[in-house]
Amino acid sequence: MRVAVFPGSFDPITIGHFDIVERAVPLFDKIIIAIGQNSQKKYMFSLEQRKEFIKNSFKQFPNVEVDSFEGLTIDYCRSRGVNFILRGLRNPSDFEFEKAIAQTNRELTQDNKIETIFLLTSASKAFISSSIVREIITFGGNYELLVPDAVRV
Ligand code: ADP
Repeated sequence: MRVAVFPGSFDPITIGHFDIVERAVPLFDKIIIAIGQNSQKKYMFSLEQRKEFIKNSFKQFPNVEVDSFEGLTIDYCRSRGVNFILRGLRNPSDFEFEKAIAQTNRELTQDNKIETIFLLTSASKAFISSSIVREIITFGGNYELLVPDAVRV
C-alpha cells in the first residue's frame, strides 16, 4: 500500500492545505494528515478542535485519515510503517526550508528511506498561511474565504 503522511500544525487547516491533500489523493492509497503537537508551542486551536476541523473537511474522502503525534515526523512515519511524507511548496522560502528538512530526514532514515514528495500550491492559494488566517480571526475579518467550510469559530 502506498501511504503518505501529511504533517503540519494545521492551526487551523486552510484551503491551501486542502488543495494539496485533494490533489495527492489520486497518487496514494491513503493519506494520513498528522497534526504535530509541540508542547513548547502555543496554538490558537486545541488539538481536538484542529482534528475536528480536518475530519469534517474530509468527510467525503474515505482514504484520508487524521491523527496526531509528538516528536519527529520520521519517528511517527516509522511507527505507522509509512514511506512517504507529503509537503506543499508555496514559494522560494518554503523551498529552502523544506529542502533542509527533507535532506535531514533522508540522512536520518538511511536504513529505510522515507521519501518526501512535494506538490506546488495552486497559484490562487499560494498566499494563504495559517498564521495569516489566525491574524484575520483575531481582528474579526472574513477568514471564511480562506478555510474549508468545516472551520468555523
Ligand atoms: P508547519 O508548522 O509544519 O509549517 P503548516 O500547517 O503551516 O505546518 O503546513 C503544513 C504543510 O502545508 C507544509 O508543507 C506547508 O508548506 C503546506 N502549506 C501551508 N500552507 C499552504 C498553502 N497555502 N498551500 C499549499 N501548501 C501549504
